[in-house]
Amino acid sequence: MFFRKILFPIYLLLLISCSSNEKKEIAKSNPSKTQPEIIKKIFGYPEKEYIIHQDTIRQNQTFGDILFSHHLTYPKIYQLATKIKNRFNIKQLKTGKTYTILSKKDSLDSLPRPRVFIYQPDNLHYTIIDFQSNDTIRVQNKTKPIKTVRKSAYVTINHSLYQDMTEQNLSPKLAMELSNIYAWTVDFFHLNKGDEFKVIYDDIYVDDSVYNGIGNIYAALFKYGGKDFYAFRYPSDSIEDNYDYFDEKGRTLRKQFLKAPLKFGHISSRYNLHRFIKYYGRVKPHLGTDFAAPIGTPIMATANGVVIKKGYTSGNGNYIKIKHNATYSTQYLHMSKFAKGIHVGSVVKQGEIIGYVGMTGHASGPHVCYRFWKNGKQVDALKEKMPPAKPIDSMKIKKYLSDIQNLKNELDSIQ
Ligand SMILES: [Zn+2]
Repeated sequence: MFFRKILFPIYLLLLISCSSNEKKEIAKSNPSKTQPEIIKKIFGYPEKEYIIHQDTIRQNQTFGDILFSHHLTYPKIYQLATKIKNRFNIKQLKTGKTYTILSKKDSLDSLPRPRVFIYQPDNLHYTIIDFQSNDTIRVQNKTKPIKTVRKSAYVTINHSLYQDMTEQNLSPKLAMELSNIYAWTVDFFHLNKGDEFKVIYDDIYVDDSVYNGIGNIYAALFKYGGKDFYAFRYPSDSIEDNYDYFDEKGRTLRKQFLKAPLKFGHISSRYNLHRFIKYYGRVKPHLGTDFAAPIGTPIMATANGVVIKKGYTSGNGNYIKIKHNATYSTQYLHMSKFAKGIHVGSVVKQGEIIGYVGMTGHASGPHVCYRFWKNGKQVDALKEKMPPAKPIDSMKIKKYLSDIQNLKNELDSIQ
């Protein structure tokens, strides 16, 4: 993280200082000086001193196979493998990965023989096995320097998040990261045409120009179902040495559920799998938590989500079900009426009023029966352990708000 942060400004400075005007002036003032010869290097080795062979490892091809096909004898290969065995496991070579062999001739009329073997398990890492000297074989694990380039994107949903992003040549990884950041806020399976998002993030390059995925996402704005959902990356108190995403007011995006769907009222019946109902003369489990309150008391969504059911049954009365993310849904029963503008597909924010307490359906008095679904099963809302989700500490909120101001302006001005 630290490394990337530093790299960015340095890269900018380089860009600024290398304007073409300066170059011309330097050339004019030194007309007699010839351009210094640029020595092209591959993995730090001068290219013109070696015969370079680069390829990918084929199925069942071993370290020995590769070197043998480049004219290294089996005794030599065995010797090499033995000497490096504590530093490089030759069995780690994987089909499809890139290797490079640098060869040299012993004399003019001899065959070129391998001197250096370089294995690249991915774009970023490589291992150099240098056996030019028989006595000191060097094995070095290296990481290529990365360059981060700050980018922004603005996507309007026409078809699907994936398709609309692909059309703008955005990495699928960006979609994945966004869906993680907004897992508690946006239901990516129910995006609407016209929803839009803006995002500020880093692209990572190795070898100056080879794209190697995305880095940090600094800020994002999802305009979802007509509502704005901001996300700012900021050091978190609840996650050690790490960052979390907070909204424009410093609230975490990983929502904790409200303890109750009502601002006031009391619990009149808890979740109970063994509830005995005298009237029926048998055990009838109670799969919700009942909050009693006067008719007309507003009922709130306990977390951000999308309304997936709104209707009436003889048991539930008027009810609403909200999907919060892939794991959790909640349900609210016996409403006297629904809140205005709440329909199947409505995006609701935590605390938003979705209906009013009543006693429709099977209810012996005015209450809301609150049901909590986890992975399709009803569980006890009061006992469910939620991931920690602390907002920005009240002592730090002022600093947070001023720290995110520039990012917010930047987001808002992306066209
Ligand atoms: Zn109930």
